[in-house]
Amino acid sequence: MNEAKFNVVDLVELQLIENAISARLSEIGEVKNNKEQVSAREEFERAKDNFDKINSEYAGLESSRKKLEDTVELQNEKIKTNNNKLFSGTITSAKELENYQEEIKILKQKNSEMEDRILEIMIEMEERIERVKLARVERDKAEENVNRINNEVSEKIEVLKNIAEGLKKRRESVTLRIPDDYLKKYKELKDKKGGIAVAVLKDNICNICNMQIPTIAAEGIEDIDKVYRCPLCGRMAVMHRDELDAIKKELES
Ligand SMILES: [Zn+2]
Repeated sequence: MNEAKFNVVDLVELQLIENAISARLSEIGEVKNNKEQVSAREEFERAKDNFDKINSEYAGLESSRKKLEDTVELQNEKIKTNNNKLFSGTITSAKELENYQEEIKILKQKNSEMEDRILEIMIEMEERIERVKLARVERDKAEENVNRINNEVSEKIEVLKNIAEGLKKRRESVTLRIPDDYLKKYKELKDKKGGIAVAVLKDNICNICNMQIPTIAAEGIEDIDKVYRCPLCGRMAVMHRDELDAIKKELES
């Protein structure tokens, strides 16, 4: 490899930044795949359907009652008109008189049946009103819960996205400090080796493949400013220094 002068720490930092970006992006994926949110939405749908059903049944009763009352009112007016006719003194035939009396009788009978039905409906509504109220409270509660969770999820995603954006900016500036041929190698290895191109050697152990470097190879690893190659996993490797732990800790926080 070209021995261009650069701080090999930057290479490790690039790797650590990219690890942190992946971790944040997968956290965003997990937050989006929130089970609590899915079940809260289902619960709200259920509570809403339940309320709509109970409420529309109640509204149906109310509309039947209203119709019956309007009819009773019309029939009362008709009875009144017929009574006025009866006592107006304008009726001359017995047949006509009988017809009016018969019609009044039928109307009164109908009204009485309708009044009974109205009363039944009112009792039924009275029995159902509590269920309607309860279903509304449940629906509202479920909706509030969905909104709360939605807000929490958006906030979490917003925070994670901001962190990821910050990391991407940091990656840009680190990338500028690394020579092109190392960057090229980095990308190549990253694609080939499951996203990890750079390893750190500490006490002759590669922190990625977790294996002890054979003694002969290890003897040649002595320059802290040099980029080596792990003889076991083939990744680029640099010697450990405390600075790397500090960078890792900072990126993970
Ligand atoms: Zn290795």
